[in-house]
Amino acid sequence: MAFENLTERLQGVFKNLRGKRKITENDVLEITKEIRVALLEADVALPVVKKFIRNIRERAIGVEVSEALNPAQQIIKIVNEELTAILGGGEAELLKSPHIPTIIMMVGLQGAGKTTFAGKLAKKLKEEQNARPLMIAGDVYRPAAIDQLKTLGQQLDVPVYDEGVSENPVNIVRNGLKFASEAHNDYVLIDTAGRLEIDDKLMNELKEIKKLANPTEILLVVDAMTGQIAAQVAKTFDEILDISGVIITKLDGDTRGGAALSIREITGKPIKFTGTGEKLTDLEIFYPDRMSSRILG
Ligand code: GDP
Repeated sequence: MAFENLTERLQGVFKNLRGKRKITENDVLEITKEIRVALLEADVALPVVKKFIRNIRERAIGVEVSEALNPAQQIIKIVNEELTAILGGGEAELLKSPHIPTIIMMVGLQGAGKTTFAGKLAKKLKEEQNARPLMIAGDVYRPAAIDQLKTLGQQLDVPVYDEGVSENPVNIVRNGLKFASEAHNDYVLIDTAGRLEIDDKLMNELKEIKKLANPTEILLVVDAMTGQIAAQVAKTFDEILDISGVIITKLDGDTRGGAALSIREITGKPIKFTGTGEKLTDLEIFYPDRMSSRILG
């Protein structure tokens, strides 16, 4: 699982504090230096690391010894609170439009897990809200993506609107929305194309789809395994599309986890879900406090 190394490193840092009756300014500087190295090794973006360390230093220096917590526990509490804050503070729920359908657009680089996430989300909405989602196959550059979405639709008994690869994706979305309106679907999930890297053609296409569909959510799907690149990708997509949230996939893999720790701070946009495997049930709501506790071990 992700974060194993980071957890181990942080636990090592805290171990050295155990038994101390008082934590001096020097201790705080030492500890935060070690935490800094651990975060950089976990691939957390430098500006995020700097801010985090600054906040911890400010709070930890001169910390009064309390009755309830020993100094080590107090430091861990501060780190936990600051980590939770960096991860977004509280849970960010999926937005719902006051009128049907709620339109959710999935964007991201190729291979990030957009199509898989669309299937996972459709399943969740169906099971938890008794919703009637429609999925639109807008990734016309990758025929396999359309087949993949259709297969997911069959498995989940969720309709998929597609026009093969011959049409322009903006037209497909327009026609798909019309189809959804006639069928009274309450959610529409738009799977869009990705590329191996960000290019103008893709971004213009996504901007056009956004303008046409006026989605309630634009969810950026990023692969945790890509580390610092994921944070950079998130920044660029957000600048161009003003995304509403982020999905971090492949947290089940052997990733250092830095992407998850950097993205909220870099984009200011909440992480809404994490993908923890290839199966349709491998989707988790993102809770910053739980993630922080998990990282601290
Ligand atoms: P897209 O190009 O963005 O639509 O990406 P896909 O949905 O096709 O996913 C690319 C690959 O990543 C597929 O093999 C998926 O099974 C896999 N995948 C997606 N999400 C996860 C996840 O959370 N964990 C793991 N381990 N694999 C995932």
